[in-house]
Amino acid sequence: MDSKHSEAEEPEVKSLNFIEQIIEEELAAGKNDGRVLTRFPPEPNGYLHIGHATSICLNFGLAAKYNGKCNLRFDDTNPSKEDPEYIDSILADVRWLGFQWDGEVRYASDYFQQLYDWAEQMILAGKAYVDDQPAEVISAQRGTPTEPGVESPYRGRDAAENLDLFRRMKNGEFPAGSRVLRAKIDMTSSNMLLRDPIMYRIMHVAHYRTGDQWCIYPMYDYTHGQSDYLEGITHSICTLEFEVHRPLYNWFLDQLVDTVYRPRQIEFARRNLSYTVMSKRMLLELVQKGYVDGWDDPRMPTISGLRRAGYTPESIRLFAEKVGVARREIVVDMSLLEFCAREHLNKIAPRVMAVLDPVRVVLENYPGDHTEWVEVENNPEDASAGTRLLPFSRELFIEREDFMEEAPKKFFRMTIGNEVRLKGAYIVKCERVEKDAEGRVQTLFCTYDAGTRSGDGPDSGRKVKGTLHWVSAKAAIEAEVRLYDRLFKDEDPAGHKDADFKTFLNEHSLRVLKHCKLEPGLHAARPGDRFQFQRLGYFCVDKSSTPDGLIFNRTVGLKDTWSKQNAR
Ligand code: ATP
Ligand code: MG
Repeated sequence: MDSKHSEAEEPEVKSLNFIEQIIEEELAAGKNDGRVLTRFPPEPNGYLHIGHATSICLNFGLAAKYNGKCNLRFDDTNPSKEDPEYIDSILADVRWLGFQWDGEVRYASDYFQQLYDWAEQMILAGKAYVDDQPAEVISAQRGTPTEPGVESPYRGRDAAENLDLFRRMKNGEFPAGSRVLRAKIDMTSSNMLLRDPIMYRIMHVAHYRTGDQWCIYPMYDYTHGQSDYLEGITHSICTLEFEVHRPLYNWFLDQLVDTVYRPRQIEFARRNLSYTVMSKRMLLELVQKGYVDGWDDPRMPTISGLRRAGYTPESIRLFAEKVGVARREIVVDMSLLEFCAREHLNKIAPRVMAVLDPVRVVLENYPGDHTEWVEVENNPEDASAGTRLLPFSRELFIEREDFMEEAPKKFFRMTIGNEVRLKGAYIVKCERVEKDAEGRVQTLFCTYDAGTRSGDGPDSGRKVKGTLHWVSAKAAIEAEVRLYDRLFKDEDPAGHKDADFKTFLNEHSLRVLKHCKLEPGLHAARPGDRFQFQRLGYFCVDKSSTPDGLIFNRTVGLKDTWSKQNAR
């Protein structure tokens, strides 16, 4: 990550969060020889979302702060749900966010042999056994938080028989689901996870990395802690639901290794966003059933969706920093994410003029075929961005909603008899209106005041209340513009017991505007380019855009109009 940038964004005095406090205490005590090694461990069963992004920023951020390193490891223990497409998207997303993992990408599947050898070691030590009961029976025997579990009739099998059966499981002699390997811990433990958890299951499914080499796969709980151990992770930062798994991870390591070193697991609360869902299962359903245009639909809370919408990595890192870490689960308001987008885009996005819902303006006292060039700033926030020239002519387009025939007093845009400035150009006055048979405004006939040209007319500094954006009719190019709204109407669509989350989809979350009029320089815009359409918001060129068929996505409006609308 660009260190200059993060310094600029950080408030001068910042108190340590609870994870930083732990790390600093350990560093002061000389633990792990001062080494800090974190990891981000996604399961490649979906695209990453904004919640993952906060976890990525946290893990890579801590490594950077403490001169450490951060691994990227795929926890790929369930081949039936995993896919190389997800691997590629995750790698791309982490890089795009601005982070580089240490060394090669790691995979839990790299440790399958080691995990298997350890399982045999546990069998020989009488710490694991093969259970022939079906999954439902095993699950029913686990008991409840208040009642102890029931021991399996196979629990007393001797090591030799267990080893034989386990090897035959591995050799593919048994059908899927017919046997499992379980750890022999304690069926009466108050922690349900310690009631002889399953270590291995039979699955005759090819793995995208190990192919047909294995037909037994280790459970996540038997894999995760050891993977951290094998990599020398010092701080295994994870979300709160894993707190109860921690004793199990420790138990496995206690059976298997005798070093003093252990990865230290630290839990923090998930970050959730309002008006969306974060479950990969739900996101997958939206994609598969066509409610959205793929994982990177700009309305999705995925990193790829935010990128396609026009979010910058900087804005997402800023969001992660503002959200912070805590032990208490919180729902972060979507408007904070949008605020972060505006913060950064305001600094970097070139200003351009675009008219989304055009209405024609004719300046009756302006020479017919004349074109003059007016100079406008590219970005008032960034002097180095310079200026550009825009063609100005007799016929122009302005935004339909910038004109009102019967205007209230406070309406400072165009109305009959009132002067407004066309940004960077002249003061104009509407004289009369022409409408079609339905009464819809067709053309606004105006006059311009030749002495008021911005910058150099004798009356260039004359003030009027309203300034409008515009484009020259003959020079304008056309584009499609997609306006997005929240994907869901409900603040917490996944939080309803008796209603499917999809019933809360916002049917107005996408509005497509064809034939928008843009200043001519935008013909050179290419996918991924970001702009501020003046007075309208921030927009990004969509990936499906071509030079002849420009398509823009609205990233976010200029102001938080949404929370206002909601308050009404
Ligand atoms: P799954 O249900 O498939 O496990 P998951 O969201 O936990 O879904 P993982 O791929 O296991 O997905 O997540 C990778 C890492 O991201 C984990 O360490 C997890 O704790 C973290 N993470 C996931 N969701 C959030 C969230 N909303 N806020 C913060 N961290 C998250
Ligand atoms: Mg998970």
